[in-house]
Amino acid sequence: MAADAPTSGIEFGTCCAELKDAMSGEEFEPLITVGEDSVLYMSVGLIDLEDEEPGMVDHPLFFCPFCGTKLQSVEDVRSKAGENGVDD
Ligand SMILES: [Zn+2]
Repeated sequence: MAADAPTSGIEFGTCCAELKDAMSGEEFEPLITVGEDSVLYMSVGLIDLEDEEPGMVDHPLFFCPFCGTKLQSVEDVRSKAGENGVDD
């Protein structure tokens, strides 16, 4: 049964309006985004790349920074990100 769980079924941003607004980013570039692996990431900084635009440094977000709701567990992130993490 667990294998039938929809990968896109988790709705991040339902815990509070602040997170929803931060993710929707209609008037700005959101720093909190859901990756292709369905893991919620937060950009924590910029990294300088030689001869390129600065790159964003992302970290999985475990708790909502606004209301403190637990959004995903370390195990969730590991299993999701691990499935297609080092695949090329
Ligand atoms: Zn929240």
